[in-house]
Amino acid sequence: MTGAVTQCVFCDIIAGRIPAQLVHDDEQVVVFKDIHPKARVHLLVVPRVHVPSLDELEERHDALVAHMMRLLPVLARKQGLATGFRTVINTGAGGGQEIAHLHIHLLGGAPLPGF
Ligand code: AMP
Ligand code: ZN
Repeated sequence: MTGAVTQCVFCDIIAGRIPAQLVHDDEQVVVFKDIHPKARVHLLVVPRVHVPSLDELEERHDALVAHMMRLLPVLARKQGLATGFRTVINTGAGGGQEIAHLHIHLLGGAPLPGF
């Protein structure tokens, strides 16, 4: 079913079926602006492979996880977040996860509330 809209919004963005404001893409991830930003900078780092959440990560994803982690400070620097940034991963209903495709929130550029 080439071109069909899937049940996953982020897979549809990755496939170019629905638009997003892309800021980075490579063989393993796409990065785009959150549609409802909670800070001046609010990016979502999303693996191209559909992994539903942190709970479903396996050993075969280790290189992907390392790539995502090491990409975060690079993205933050490019966004001008010289003094630091926040990363968030929501997991499952109990973690407030709304989109069931693993993603890391990258936030900064505004005073962020404490926990
Ligand atoms: P989470 O609660 O961790 O699953 O976060 C999902 C995030 O995806 C929320 O911050 C939403 O604002 C964001 N979001 C939902 N749909 C889109 C979309 N089409 N493009 C960009 N961001 C989106
Ligand atoms: Zn997906």
